[in-house]
Amino acid sequence: MEKIVSLCKRRGFIFQSSEIYGGLNGCWDYGPLGVELKRNLKNYWWRVMVHERDDVVGMDGAILMNRAVWKASGHEDTFSDPMVDCLLTGKRFRADQIDEQSGWVVSFSGAVDFEAFQKLQQEKEAPERSSIWSEIELAPHLRGIFANYSSSFDLDSRSGYVQLSDPNGQMKSLELLIKRGTLGTSSLQPFLAMEIGGDPKSFRWSSNRGVNRAIKLAQDFYRKRGVTNPIVIAVGVQREEHSKRFNPENGALLTGPRAFNLMFKTYVGATEDDSSVTYLRPETAQSIFVQFKNVLEVSRKKLPFGIAQIGKAFRNEINPRNFTFRSREFEQMELEYFCRAEEGMKLLDYWLEERLKFYESIGIPPAKVHARKVPDEERAFYSKGTYDIEYDFPFGRQEVEGVAYRTDYDLSQHQKASGKSLEYFDEETKQRFLPHVVEPSAGVDRSVLALICEAYSEDEAPDEKGKMEMRVVLRFHPRIAPIKCAVFPLLKNKEPLVTKAKEIVALLRPHMHVFYDETGAIGRRYRRQDEIGTPFGVTVDFETLGEKNPDLRDTVTLRDRDSMKQERVTLKDLPGILVSRIS
Ligand code: ATP
Repeated sequence: MEKIVSLCKRRGFIFQSSEIYGGLNGCWDYGPLGVELKRNLKNYWWRVMVHERDDVVGMDGAILMNRAVWKASGHEDTFSDPMVDCLLTGKRFRADQIDEQSGWVVSFSGAVDFEAFQKLQQEKEAPERSSIWSEIELAPHLRGIFANYSSSFDLDSRSGYVQLSDPNGQMKSLELLIKRGTLGTSSLQPFLAMEIGGDPKSFRWSSNRGVNRAIKLAQDFYRKRGVTNPIVIAVGVQREEHSKRFNPENGALLTGPRAFNLMFKTYVGATEDDSSVTYLRPETAQSIFVQFKNVLEVSRKKLPFGIAQIGKAFRNEINPRNFTFRSREFEQMELEYFCRAEEGMKLLDYWLEERLKFYESIGIPPAKVHARKVPDEERAFYSKGTYDIEYDFPFGRQEVEGVAYRTDYDLSQHQKASGKSLEYFDEETKQRFLPHVVEPSAGVDRSVLALICEAYSEDEAPDEKGKMEMRVVLRFHPRIAPIKCAVFPLLKNKEPLVTKAKEIVALLRPHMHVFYDETGAIGRRYRRQDEIGTPFGVTVDFETLGEKNPDLRDTVTLRDRDSMKQERVTLKDLPGILVSRIS
């Protein structure tokens, strides 16, 4: 992944958003090559899903919609992820994405001030001279605490821990002292910390390198709560296996899950109050549902038929991660395919197959793409069947598209909430009913990332002197490659070669995105194009000018990026050959 991310930046596919200001987490900008790749993917999706079909029309809805849409669709109340926070760092995680951890868990019931505790300990030696030890009511408590604990103190950092032998009894005594202020700045907030991993047979409170990591975490936890020099009070330790209660990055306890709405809230108009609230859309689908009736009327389609849309969606993801995979602003390519209830399950399978074919047609081999049937307990309550289409990313197998049979849930919600009929009238049977819908919903950014990951490869190619050297090559399918063909004059200081090469650029430009390059040795120029995935290279040489052999006048070499083979083709045939290979 690191190599891919760095290539993306170096060659202008993807940059961090607002980079010069330190970036904005979860947001990305596509550079000159990234935008071409993304556009090619979207155009091809549109071609396959809309232009090549009789039963689908497109639309382009606004990102901002009436808040009532999000109330009716259920997003305002339920579009949330369960989220947990690290009690130490405050870092937020999605509860269902926490990796399980095993280790020793130490329970702490609070922390007291180092100086105050040390003082009491020293005064124990001569209680009669201590104003506290000599108080009749306190003495039994003090003896209870100080008679039986193990501890370790670090004079340099002025911190440490005590491990109580009778936590219940001793804690009562400590609480009493804390309430009286005898133990300085203290905290009685319970905390748990896991020493991730660790020796599963036994727990060591301290080693010769210092105290245990769980204790260090607890010291940090109580420092953050105002105990500057904490002695943490450990009241128990036990082993936990496969636990999701702790921050996998440090072992600190996480809060319990709380629902976190993923929609970005905004205000429409000049007043910022509850009456002007709406949201940036978290999916494109809802504008299709609320325009269903309009599109049906103007397109005069009969069931089954679909409405397709490509557009931005926004989700305030808790942990944006894996490069562009989980972003806060992204694009979706969605089709809502309306049908009769009895066709729903069959069409779900049909669309799954169609979508799997799509990934193959953009160069992702079927072996790397998987259909996962989403189990009942994970599926939205209104869906009768859902598949996730997953790709084997370098960081694991992850969803790029969902194909869901959403029944008539959305249309019926909007019909109810708006009071407007969204029914379909079947002229043959004279029946009115709400259509059901099957939705293939793909992520543009996730698909682009899959394309880049799939295309990335390293092999060897000869340099100028024929010596083999490492070559980075993006093996994009020609259909989606950002630049289709590069045109090179063999030498840049030979005017007829340059003129001819520029004529060829002009010849090809109406048909495809072409790139002209005259700088550097020809091998280096090929390599630069290989690295950005340009499938074809055309070189204009002296043969093209007919200088050596008149039969070769107006022919060029056409080089294939993957095989590195070169063929001689006539200029007359060149556009046709290239167009057939990239379409
Ligand atoms: P996840 O479980 O990964 O959050 P999801 O199941 O919520 O995804 P859907 O609501 O089904 O996703 O959205 C459809 C598609 O939109 C996804 O398959 C994905 O390609 C894309 N998508 C969703 N969320 C994001 C995101 N945060 N960043 C990039 N793409 C996304």
